[in-house]
Parts: sequence; C-alpha cells; structure tokens
Amino acid sequence: MAPVSVPFTDLAAMTQDVRRDVDAAWRSLLADSDFVGGAAVEQFEQDWADRCGTTHAVGVANGTDALTLTLRALGIGPGDEVVVPVNTFVATVEAVVLAGATPRFADVDPDTLLLTAHTLAAAITNRTSAVVVVHLYGQTVDVDAVGRVAQAAGLAVVEDAAQAHGATWRTRPAGSLGLAGCFSFYPGKNLGAFGDAGAVVTSDQALARTLRSLRNHGRLPGAPHLHGDVGTNSRMDTVQAAVLSAKLQHLDRWTAARRHVVDRYRQATAEGPVRLVAVAPGAEPAPHLAVALVPDRDAVRSMLARRGVATAVHYPVPCHRQPPYRRFADRPLPVAEEAADRIVSLPLFPHMSEAQVNQVCGALRDVAAEAVVGVAR
Ligand SMILES: *Cc1c(COP(=O)(O)O)cnc(C)c1O
Repeated sequence: MAPVSVPFTDLAAMTQDVRRDVDAAWRSLLADSDFVGGAAVEQFEQDWADRCGTTHAVGVANGTDALTLTLRALGIGPGDEVVVPVNTFVATVEAVVLAGATPRFADVDPDTLLLTAHTLAAAITNRTSAVVVVHLYGQTVDVDAVGRVAQAAGLAVVEDAAQAHGATWRTRPAGSLGLAGCFSFYPGKNLGAFGDAGAVVTSDQALARTLRSLRNHGRLPGAPHLHGDVGTNSRMDTVQAAVLSAKLQHLDRWTAARRHVVDRYRQATAEGPVRLVAVAPGAEPAPHLAVALVPDRDAVRSMLARRGVATAVHYPVPCHRQPPYRRFADRPLPVAEEAADRIVSLPLFPHMSEAQVNQVCGALRDVAAEAVVGVAR
C-alpha cells in the first residue's frame, strides 16, 4: 500500500461542507448590510444555548473575552484568587490576569492531565473565590468531584470549554456544568468560525444580562446612550454567526468522526509504550486533540515524521513557566511539569481518510516495535 501523508489538521474540508450555506448567508448579509450583531447572531446564540442545555448564550469576540468578561461579570477582580490548571492554553490564565484577579496554579492528574478535586483542593487559600475548570483536549473534568470541593470552599465554577464543543459529563453538556461555560470558535476549534468568535453559555439570567452589557461598552439594556459599566467591544460579527450556524449542523457528524479516529489510535497503542491520555469515567469526549504520553518525544516525533505523519505539542511550556505568569508560581507542580516533556498531539480532523488513519496507526505500531528492541529513534 502506498504511504499517504497525514497533515496535523485540515480545515479546508470542513469549509467545503458548509460552502453553499455560507455563500447563501453571505448574499443575504450583503443585502441587509447587517455586520455586527443582529438576527443571525441571535439565532446562533439561541441554537448554541439549546445545544449546551442552558437558557442563554452570549456571543462575544473570542474565547479569551468569554473568560475575562465572565469573571468580571461575576464580580471577580483585584484581591480575588482564581484557581487554574497549568496544563492549558495560556488564554485561561491570561483571562484571570486581564480580569484583575490573581491566578492560583493547580497541578493535574497524571492520566487525564486535567484538574481534579485533589489538585484543586491543594491550590485553594482563604482568598480564592473561583476556579476555572478546563475541559482540555475535548475531555470533561470530573465536575462532580471538583464541584464538591468548590462548593465546600465557596468558589464559583467557570468552565473553559474552548476545546470541548459537544463533550459531556454524565450526559450533561460541557458549558452547562458550572455557573457559566466559555467557548472559543477560533477557526481551529471543533466548531470554528471564519475568523475569531466566542460565546458564554449560562442559565443565570442576571449573569447573561451583565455579559450582554459588558460586551457592548457597558451599555444598559433599553438605554442606548447610558453606560452602566466600563465594558469593552466584544461583539460577535454577523458573518461569523452565519458560519457557525451552518457548521453547527455538521458538528455531531464531525465529532463522531473524531471519536472514531481516537478509538483507532487507542487500539493501536494498547500495548504501549505510547499511551493516549485517559478519559475520566463519566466523560464522553468530543475530541479536539489526540494527545499521547511518550517516553522519548523527539525520537517518536521524528519516527512519525519519517512515515509522513505530522505531529504537534499542546503545550510544551506549562503556564506557570511562561514569563508573564512565573511570578504567580509559588510551588512545584510536578505532574504537569513532567508531562510537558512527554506529550505529543497526533493528527486529528473529521475528514481523515481511512488510509490516513491506518498510516498513523501503522506508524504508532512501528514506534512500539522499535521501543521493544530498544532502538526508538
Ligand atoms: C483557544 C482557547 C482559548 C482562547 O480562545 P481564543 O478564541 O483564541 O481567545 C482559551 N482556552 C483554551 C483551553 C483554548 O484552547
């Protein structure tokens, strides 16, 4: 069988799936010349809230704003500490600092690489007022256990669901598991716009109202010239809402295709030494990244590259080791620190062909075979 090359991701095929719908939406948008907010945004907000099992969705400009504005809307700012896991995209921590609060770094579980009740408890002080649970890689955190610790300590639970569109915890959708769920629709996410976009979902009406005001310069509802708060400009573009509505119709199918790929990788690596990150019992992932722990990352990546398989690393430097955030790091976080050198992300996109999946699985078996005879290079 001729080898095929396997890119890390491929957004173009998803674009093709919605091309006709987006063309039609674009024509009507030009006719209306409605470019920011409006009916298309409201429609997407309603559909996204329904999907997430919440009563409200508030469209914003990106996922970072979704997090920052949610913290601000909850009254979290200077003097407050917010627990965040260090194994996450830097935006989670960035949002805490942008809200004026202080990040408290937490370690992660060695198998799932996610925040746990135990790592949360170890990070809480008497100044802690919230926790951001990050459903990284499309895998939900055990929110039952984490929620019990948060509740006992009086913490607000905010979800960073930027990588978890359609993931569930005991059948409940990501985004509906805390006070508010924050999504990014950056093009590379599982539900991606044709530019930047984000949303906050919540069933708290007052919180939704505050978010709607903050995203639009602090404008008071029904009073276009009155600004009750220092808000910002974080409105969702109409064209992005139209793209997201078109893509939403494909999300379940795309997620199923991603799950199939990850299942194949799990079978191919069952014997080790490559080990896919574990899924907490109770979580049904909507895989965004297929992350594996490997013994010698450079060797494994170059073996895969020689077999035409592209890989990436999410994320090689934990947040507490990034220059602007080092000052908040006050203790070692050994699990995340060790994992950062051993994780590798395998190709994952909905339109992967069976030949491409086979190519990756074959390459993973080669890695295992060479590791057995001790020449993993
Ligand atoms: C992408 C991402 C964000 C930030 O989203 P943007 O839309 O890029 O601002 C936040 N958290 C996580 C975990 C992400 O993957």
